[in-house]
Amino acid sequence: MKLAILSRAPRSYSTQRLRSAALNRGHDVKVLNTLRFGIDLAGDEPDLQFRGKPLSDYDAVLPRIGNSITYYGTAVVRQFEQMDVYTPNTAAGISNSRDKLRATQILSRHNIGMPATTFVRDRADVIPAIERVGGAPVVIKLLEGTQGIGVILAPEIKVAEAIIETLQSTRQNVLIQRFIKESKGRDIRALVVGDRVVAAMRRTAKGDEFRSNVHRGGSVERVELDPEYERVAVRAAQIMGLKVAGVDMLEADAGPLVMEVNSSPGLEGIEAATKLDVAGAIIDYIDNQVAFPHIDVRER
Ligand code: ADP
Repeated sequence: MKLAILSRAPRSYSTQRLRSAALNRGHDVKVLNTLRFGIDLAGDEPDLQFRGKPLSDYDAVLPRIGNSITYYGTAVVRQFEQMDVYTPNTAAGISNSRDKLRATQILSRHNIGMPATTFVRDRADVIPAIERVGGAPVVIKLLEGTQGIGVILAPEIKVAEAIIETLQSTRQNVLIQRFIKESKGRDIRALVVGDRVVAAMRRTAKGDEFRSNVHRGGSVERVELDPEYERVAVRAAQIMGLKVAGVDMLEADAGPLVMEVNSSPGLEGIEAATKLDVAGAIIDYIDNQVAFPHIDVRER
């Protein structure tokens, strides 16, 4: 197949691994900078320019859209969709998963277990909201945060209220979430490709930190997932409209609680922890969808 990887980081581990997995399998693959596309809308047919020239024909596109360019990146992916080029992650799926509020709304409609979460804007509604999710200690998250930045554990209601007021006064939207104590600074990252989990790891926070992000010094280990965790991870990705996704779950007493579904999951940590060929699994899945598109028709 002829595959375009949309990425602004051609030298990053994930992009390099995806590119070489495609080359090793004999595919024609190009890494194209998402911001160098032009979207011309006046003509009869949907079309794309790349670096000012008409784009050649591709069978599939693999979007790796960074947080900072979600708007333009999803517009490019949407254009590929309109040109009937296969993409495992749709523009709608990518935008839905980027917005924590929208993602939580969508998942909660589909019986996916999540930590109790609430959003409020008015000062007067903050304390009742904290109480509704179980009181202090309580987790406060910035809607646009990543890598654990903007995720705060407030030990008392008064402190939580002050933090939320401060954040809202700088026009930041925040989410209030039940603290899942029994997860003890750990979480699960399941890498979903199509309808299965191809690799999974557990991240454990360093010392008394409750955030298990590797950027915060967390460590990783391979895990064999319980079937319930696999089922929930695959369903969460499907509901979001993503065929390639990193699903983050907390291990609660009652079972898996989904925190987040990532549309451009990093491959370095999970391949190092599991020694599995995740990049190869992604390329094989796309190849299969291009060769036998009817198999997935029901889900598209
Ligand atoms: P980010 O998207 O910035 O990584 P997350 O929402 O994934 O933010 O939170 C970062 C980390 O904090 C998680 O990996 C998890 O270890 C911990 N965490 C987040 N929410 C909760 C919660 N409700 N209860 C317990 N731990 C949590």
